[in-house]
Amino acid sequence: MIDPKHPRYQSLLIREKLTSAFKRGITSSAGLIAHGRGEAFDYLLGEKTGAFAHEAIKAAAATLILSKKAVLSVNGNAAALAGQSMILIAKTLNCPLEVNLYHHSLKRVEAIEDLLQKKAGSHLLKFSKYKKMVIPGIASKRKITLREGIGSADCIFIPLEDGDRSHALKQLGKRVITVDLNPLSRTAQAADITIIDNIVRCLPLLLNNIRKMRNYPKENLEKTVKGYDNRKIIRQALKVICYHNL
Ligand code: ATP
Ligand code: MG
Repeated sequence: MIDPKHPRYQSLLIREKLTSAFKRGITSSAGLIAHGRGEAFDYLLGEKTGAFAHEAIKAAAATLILSKKAVLSVNGNAAALAGQSMILIAKTLNCPLEVNLYHHSLKRVEAIEDLLQKKAGSHLLKFSKYKKMVIPGIASKRKITLREGIGSADCIFIPLEDGDRSHALKQLGKRVITVDLNPLSRTAQAADITIIDNIVRCLPLLLNNIRKMRNYPKENLEKTVKGYDNRKIIRQALKVICYHNL
């Protein structure tokens, strides 16, 4: 039991969620290490959602609303930390969720699907049920994806992603939106939109923005997307990391 008065209460709570998900076969051991990398950047960012993240969230919401077919890709860490938010976003956009793992095993895919299934319903594309296709340029088993899902999407939301796949998806001409606390990761650098924030904080904000903005005229959304500059957002996050503690 974590004491709510502990100065690092939120951070410890997240750790506990992940270690518990690890024991249930949802998060991989490498996922725990990847979280440590994210945590370090969160510390440097002051553990709050910066203006650069708010701007990226708006652009992400507009892009997702405008896309013909968005797909939300879920891995073990995203499922453990923000599975419910991912489901609510999929429902609001009326788009599918697909489980795709760096450390792929059918057992873990199914453990994550079981976690999401009850609330996601038909929004969840089950791995065993659909035709597969291979994304060129990825060495690991995660190159296997669903034709009905990521394979035919024009816009993919891939939070906490590995650089290889972000690159490969971009090569296929897909729009890539990510959540990554490390502004220097290959994923953060390769994506069209990088939300540099903790997935726990930014997904509820993304959901609220989608709910609000889906009633906006198309031209307004297009303007938001056109005016967005991911390089500028990354530079702003790096500035905060360098100077906010001085
Ligand atoms: P890349 O492959 O893109 O260069 P990497 O190899 O440094 O990144 P990965 O393990 O491939 O890291 O990807 C996980 C990414 O997720 C890391 O950049 C890490 O900072 C980020 N991350 C981890 N936990 C969170 C979190 N809770 N919220 C947001 N980002 C996170
Ligand atoms: Mg990586």
